[in-house]
Amino acid sequence: MSDIIQLLPDHVANQIAAGEVVQRPASVVKELLENAIDAGATEIKLLIKDAGKTLVQVIDNGKGMSTTDARLSFERHATSKIRTAEDLFNLSTKGFRGEALASIAAIAHVEVKTKQSDQELGTHIKIEGSTIQNQDVVSTPTGTSIAVKNLFFNIPARRNFLKSNSVELRHIKDEFYRVALTHPSIAFDFYNNDSEILNLKNSNLRQRIVAVFGKKINEKLVPIQEHTDIVSINGFVSKPEFAKKKRGEQFFFVNNRFIKNGYLHHAVLNAFNQLIPSGHHPSYFLYLDVPPNTIDINIHPTKTEIKFDNEQALYAILRSTIKHSLGQYNVAPVLDFNRDDTLDVPYSFKDKSSVSTPKIKVNPSFNPFENEAKNTSFQKPKTAQWESLYTETDTDFKPKQPEIQPDVFTHQLFDNSESEFKSKTLQIHKKYILSVIKSGVVYINQNLAHQRILYEELLTKMTLEDTSSQQLLFPLTLAFNKEDITLLKEIQPDLESVGFQFAAIKNDTIVLDGIPVNVKQNNLQGLFEELFEDIKNEIPDSSFSQLDTIAKSLAKSLAIKNGTKLDNKEQEEILEKLFSCKEPNQSPFGRKTFITLSSEEIQLKFDN
Ligand code: ADP
Ligand code: MG
Repeated sequence: MSDIIQLLPDHVANQIAAGEVVQRPASVVKELLENAIDAGATEIKLLIKDAGKTLVQVIDNGKGMSTTDARLSFERHATSKIRTAEDLFNLSTKGFRGEALASIAAIAHVEVKTKQSDQELGTHIKIEGSTIQNQDVVSTPTGTSIAVKNLFFNIPARRNFLKSNSVELRHIKDEFYRVALTHPSIAFDFYNNDSEILNLKNSNLRQRIVAVFGKKINEKLVPIQEHTDIVSINGFVSKPEFAKKKRGEQFFFVNNRFIKNGYLHHAVLNAFNQLIPSGHHPSYFLYLDVPPNTIDINIHPTKTEIKFDNEQALYAILRSTIKHSLGQYNVAPVLDFNRDDTLDVPYSFKDKSSVSTPKIKVNPSFNPFENEAKNTSFQKPKTAQWESLYTETDTDFKPKQPEIQPDVFTHQLFDNSESEFKSKTLQIHKKYILSVIKSGVVYINQNLAHQRILYEELLTKMTLEDTSSQQLLFPLTLAFNKEDITLLKEIQPDLESVGFQFAAIKNDTIVLDGIPVNVKQNNLQGLFEELFEDIKNEIPDSSFSQLDTIAKSLAKSLAIKNGTKLDNKEQEEILEKLFSCKEPNQSPFGRKTFITLSSEEIQLKFDN
């Protein structure tokens, strides 16, 4: 009998391999994104058309390929990532089998443009069904662009097997999320049919989660942190009250790879036991780091399963860490500072004889730019800026000399002759506070005005060393990256001067046991993150400007947002405090805090 065994031709072998590697457009997305990350890219663009059926393109600013490598990269078992079998145990890259590009090129039209930084011109290669069609020199930026068109063009059965565009797009988004959540420091731009789906800036993990899943998720996250010899756990779970009927966002990453693991999933659910109704699902974003020699990653390219040596210990650690963090969060709302109480200061003129709630005093004449500001005694508020607003047409209006309380003084701001109105302010569109003044009306933007008020209050506190703070019954632990902790240490004295008290600052966590009185406890993580971001974006040229940045950032975070309904007292407080400010007419960022419309202007409108 003659011999019948033959070696399969490469293109056939590639097509068979492609069946494993490329199941759908989302698989191409995954492989191309991972290659871009392995190439050290800091910016990655993903373009897809028709849910990837017509086009999947990834453009990166990574290290690019030489002309020879660009050609070789499409050969089977062509990889730059391992050389010996031992390398398999020290993998720091996503890919290593050298199969993805060869597989993709076997079943699609592929076009590559790539250039290394030291090259003038790059390489341009076109491949269809494993055959190189064209190769030339091209002018292209450093990095690599790989466009995969007409997936499964030569395997109609597979092409027909693809699901509807919405299902395929869902798979693509899932792959994209997994990659984006593993690499928050890489910027991603994701387009579908020429419209931008997501634009993710370089950020920290929490910011990345918020950027992917929307601002609302921020308040739902409880940070999780634990370090032991067998595992380090980082990440977030959703607060129990936000558990969803449908399975929410549930992500496990082990050593920076997305994985699925039913056992660990169960550990998370177990931690939520009794906190959420049955049939509801928590969201979680959990990053586990374990020594590589204690796991067995199934090296199949598309599998996400994983086996741990210490599965039971991991289960116990994960469960108790989450339980602990949830417990910490659960007591927190009880201690929440209730802003209504502090706004409950009798500002209205008729109430002025009643006893006022003790509160932080503001020195209305405080000038943050003057060193003599150490003088804490209250002086006459500087009125020139706004006085004219209220006195233009009323010549015999004379502000009473203020006594000790600035409150008394500010009551004269109002034109009480308009007595049909019970209150002197009216909130409109949950955004503006309208008040009648002698010369017409004033529209105050509540958010910008409150920023101004807080900004001056904070600066006052920082320079006067008036450190009133609310003590927390249960110290609060917050987690940050190392870079942010370093930053925090630099500004620690300034933060302490406004009322933050740190029980400990560790490598990547801080423990707070006191916070400023006007700060709510449940959004501290966000507040700090915003603060760090603002400081990073600002280049302080003096210690004052650093202080100023902190005050500005905190004022921005803490200010009453537009869209918040304010009761009369709150409206009046803003109005009065604003006009006791040094610079009432602009926000700390230079925007107008109010506009006036004079009676003449109004009349003119009728006359025309
Ligand atoms: P693997 O990632 O397993 O090594 P691939 O087939 O995905 O195999 O890629 C083959 C090789 O091509 C990689 O090892 C790498 O050297 C090169 N390569 C692929 N994509 C890029 C890219 N975006 N930038 C630079 N090099 C790349
Ligand atoms: Mg790869």
